[in-house]
Amino acid sequence: LFEQVQLAPPDPILGTALAYKADTSKDKMNLGVGAYRDDNEKPYPFKVVRKVESQIVNDHSIDKEYLPIDGLAQFNTAAQQLIFSKDSAAVKEGRVITSQAISGTGALRIGFEFLAKFYNREVLVSNPTWGNHHDIIKCSGLNFKQYRYYNPKNMSLDFNGMFTDISMAKPGSIVLLHACAHNPTGLDLTEDQWKRLAGLFKQNRLFPFFDSAYQGFATGDLNRDAYSIRLFTELGFQLIVTQSFAKNMGLYSDRIGAFHLVCANKETAAKCLSQLKLVIRPMYSNPPAHGARIATKILTDPALYNEWMEELSMVSKRIIDMRTALKNELVRLEVPGNWNHIVTQIGMFSYTGLTPEQCDILINKYHIYLLKNGRISMCGITTKNVGYLAAAIKDAVVS
Ligand code: PMP
Repeated sequence: LFEQVQLAPPDPILGTALAYKADTSKDKMNLGVGAYRDDNEKPYPFKVVRKVESQIVNDHSIDKEYLPIDGLAQFNTAAQQLIFSKDSAAVKEGRVITSQAISGTGALRIGFEFLAKFYNREVLVSNPTWGNHHDIIKCSGLNFKQYRYYNPKNMSLDFNGMFTDISMAKPGSIVLLHACAHNPTGLDLTEDQWKRLAGLFKQNRLFPFFDSAYQGFATGDLNRDAYSIRLFTELGFQLIVTQSFAKNMGLYSDRIGAFHLVCANKETAAKCLSQLKLVIRPMYSNPPAHGARIATKILTDPALYNEWMEELSMVSKRIIDMRTALKNELVRLEVPGNWNHIVTQIGMFSYTGLTPEQCDILINKYHIYLLKNGRISMCGITTKNVGYLAAAIKDAVVS
């Protein structure tokens, strides 16, 4: 029956994790997947998450009933406040609808499914972007075009190219934006650039779709990392936000996130929520509860929230420290090129500028796993292996 089925290539990102696992070298490094590691290269479950989790497990008043289609109501409110702020006028006016989602990916998928049904327009995505964006958009039945984002010559944000390409989009197009800590480039817009972009969106009636997978990882400040979303919301845009708690709470496997739609008024919001439920129901019926319960407790209990903040800043500080360590080591070894971008880029990743051939040398000769586009996850670098990495980069660059 299925003899004609062709063997599919492994996922480019998750495939590097498998290759790393299978490698028996003691020097191996995993710089592929964007998941936090401590200075011993070990996964780091947040202590506050462990604490809350044991409270949940021991609380026998919590049952295992189905959640509603749109998830846990308390979670939705807390997630909404985290991204839009407690004082958001749009939230207070009841114009924002929120549904718990299967992490950021699930939120993106229900978002594009909803748009395909009710706002079928062309989508614009940054070049480059997180690879899964392309497939999610296509699978939802929409088409995408790319806008310039990255200037490989000086490894910086190509804001003029971005602005020009977006200005040429058909009025009403959907534009996918990374709210902060752009993946893979680690390059974000300044506040002034966001304002200029908002003016263009107003003029051309573009629809903003914000993907927020790294709130807390760009500047270390949850509010500053929500700047772009809050700016566009305050300016009165109708927009979508997809939110993930995978990275900022370390809840990768719990698949907890949220989908938000800001509507023009309360009446439209209520109708859209009813339709969103019809999108979700045949896909997975209703979401799992565990991650939502963990996130809700952390977001709503001030003491737990503070513990979370402390751990989040520790984690983001380690990443920044590793940026400095890598750059210093590359400079010390006199590796040809300018490595300033390693410290100026932000978030979990660095877009190193290494060519696919240089990446192959790192992978095949040094057992250092990274994406072929030169993206490295800073989380896989430690005080112990940074020297090995810099020396390997030197060899790849000079050979
Ligand atoms: N958007 C971006 C830009 C991402 O980098 C990721 C994770 N790599 C996601 C969304 C979704 O992540 P998750 O489904 O694990 O929340």
